[in-house]
Amino acid sequence: MHQIPVNCYVCGSSNDREFLQLVRRANDGSGGNYRVAQCRDCGFLFINPRPTPDGLTELYAKHIAYFRDDYEPLSREMPVLTRVLGDIRQFVSAGSILEVGCGRGELLEIARQAGFQVFGCDLQPSPSLDPRIPVHLGDLESSALPPHSFDCIVMRNTLEHLFDPRKELQMCGRLLKPGGFLYLKVPNGAYEHGWRCRFMLGKPHVFGPPWHLNYFTQHTLSRLLIQNGFEVADWLIESPTPDPNLVRNAFQQTAVAAFRAARFLTRGAMFPKPLLTTIARKLPVPHVADQDSSFAMHTASGKS
Ligand SMILES: [Zn+2]
Repeated sequence: MHQIPVNCYVCGSSNDREFLQLVRRANDGSGGNYRVAQCRDCGFLFINPRPTPDGLTELYAKHIAYFRDDYEPLSREMPVLTRVLGDIRQFVSAGSILEVGCGRGELLEIARQAGFQVFGCDLQPSPSLDPRIPVHLGDLESSALPPHSFDCIVMRNTLEHLFDPRKELQMCGRLLKPGGFLYLKVPNGAYEHGWRCRFMLGKPHVFGPPWHLNYFTQHTLSRLLIQNGFEVADWLIESPTPDPNLVRNAFQQTAVAAFRAARFLTRGAMFPKPLLTTIARKLPVPHVADQDSSFAMHTASGKS
């Protein structure tokens, strides 16, 4: 797969070091050599060079299983999503919600039933999607949604896959109303390469290129948000989807209870959770110095 070099998406630096070389052996188009780079200036871990945006689009179109409706059975996912909406409602009690990567639309359906206006965006159609939920098929950039349209944007398990996460956050900032909120969930890079190795005695690393290209920590995710016009309002702990294996499920639920207790006792200090979930507030004045000029040109043409 053709790969191109990029700069750090968190601080813009072109100065990185090789953190790890990974070889993925697969005959489905996803195989190849991948270099996990670490920015020497901010510590961000990312695949560099990385597959081109067109290459990624082609890859995802081939791997429709990534979007299959039985990826997480609905019966097990619903209690998790009900809690997600509950967390969102602590910050956004009414109004409009956009979910980027909405899949089957179950979170939007719960939100719709709770009185929110909802809109989805996804690369692939889902046959399970309620026809009452409007969905743009394609990426956010091609959605042509007007600026300042939403009170909340939800992006779960998406930012780590994107070629340019910075540009995506800038688009979210444009689509949110002043003071709107962004709910974001990504894998925790610190857990994927460090804590998991030390505490779980499993694989030393769980990087998953070319699917995952960006590996955030609490520090780099905060910095990326701040530089793109957001402030972290809170860090959250999302419940995992219940595992049908009773032993694994008991372990996961105990771990989440421990994470919540640790968070309470340490007033939010870092701990080895597998996922980072945050809700961030759009700041009233964007950081002009950090705006990406190519994005500004793009939006000036009225495309986004
Ligand atoms: Zn950097």
